[in-house]
Amino acid sequence: MHFQEPSSNGHTVTLPASKVANLPHATAVPVKGATKTQSIEEMAGKWSDFSFAPIRESQVSRAMTRRYFTDLDSYAESDIVIVGAGSCGLSSAYCLAKARPDLKIAIVEAGVAPGGGAWLGGQLFSAMVMRKPADAFLRELGVPYEDDGAESNFVVVKHAALFTSTVLSKVLQFPNVKLFNATAVEDLITRTDGNGGIRIAGVVTNWTLVSMHHDDQSCMDPNTINAPIIISTTGHDGPFGAFSAKRLVSMGGLPALGGMRGLDMNTAEDAIVKGTREIAPGLIIGGMELSEVDGANRMGPTFGAMALSGVKAAEEALKLFETRKAECAEGGKF
Ligand SMILES: Cc1cc2nc3c(=O)[nH]c(=O)nc-3n(C[C@H](O)[C@H](O)[C@H](O)COP(=O)(O)OP(=O)(O)OC[C@H]3O[C@@H](n4cnc5c(N)ncnc54)[C@H](O)[C@@H]3O)c2cc1C
Repeated sequence: MHFQEPSSNGHTVTLPASKVANLPHATAVPVKGATKTQSIEEMAGKWSDFSFAPIRESQVSRAMTRRYFTDLDSYAESDIVIVGAGSCGLSSAYCLAKARPDLKIAIVEAGVAPGGGAWLGGQLFSAMVMRKPADAFLRELGVPYEDDGAESNFVVVKHAALFTSTVLSKVLQFPNVKLFNATAVEDLITRTDGNGGIRIAGVVTNWTLVSMHHDDQSCMDPNTINAPIIISTTGHDGPFGAFSAKRLVSMGGLPALGGMRGLDMNTAEDAIVKGTREIAPGLIIGGMELSEVDGANRMGPTFGAMALSGVKAAEEALKLFETRKAECAEGGKF
């Protein structure tokens, strides 16, 4: 995949996909025939003569739908699917996309707004606390934080939204990532492994608004994405949360949910990071969803475990990827 960037002589140059991910926010990226760009400064004081470039409404429709349907087509076979774009899923997506620009990574998020529960700290306060050494991930992203120095065991981002918007913006700039938001995972694609066990081979999706109306509308079959590795980070048990863990139980892949235990920050954060792993072949679970699998303590408003669970989920996925991909291929044509 290649993108165009203006050069100093006004012509465009083709950028390799790897460089596009690192473009600074303010860089204009004219595509296909855009010849002249205007700066905000050039517009200043000229608003009485102002007009937008003319457009026909169908151009807007086609600009959106062509891209979306191309993405649906392309990502129907993905390398890795991340279910849930909360702090854990986004952290994982960042690490994966950075480490392996050759992999196609689909993120499926039920909500319209990605970010999960990480737009605020505890009790709807603004600040986000991360215990050390998760500050390493903030430095990796370039998120500023307050640190009281060597004596302090944690750092504070002045607003949780600063962390979430930064990781989200970095993830979305990677050319090998597609976020399908307002889209719910309704089921898992499974294969039998020949020994009575199951392997997870993809996800079953639907528009979230459709998923919410299965009881009062009919004939709303879903869509699918095949992938050798699924990373599920759907958060606490709830109407959509802990989705894959609950589905594994109902299909006999897990005996029972462990259920999230009472709050203990010290125990909980270590347990979530250490426990982030492949729960069933092809399915890695991380973040707060894992507390429902393992019966881990809840941790309250401290987010280091979410970020580092995402980092570890990415590491596990890359370790397993070639094996699971080969198994999918061995499974025959389907
Ligand atoms: C009631 C409540 C209690 C909390 N308690 C704690 C706590 O004890 N400890 C703690 O650390 N934090 C707690 N939080 C804060 C916060 O939710 C979590 O710390 C953190 O956001 C969890 O990160 P995550 O990435 O695992 O999941 P989330 O931030 O919850 O993100 C999960 C994402 O997955 C999406 N999703 C869910 N199901 C599906 C599906 N089927 N298909 C597609 N997408 C799906 C959701 O829309 C969401 O965006 C709590 C929040 C709430 C609302």
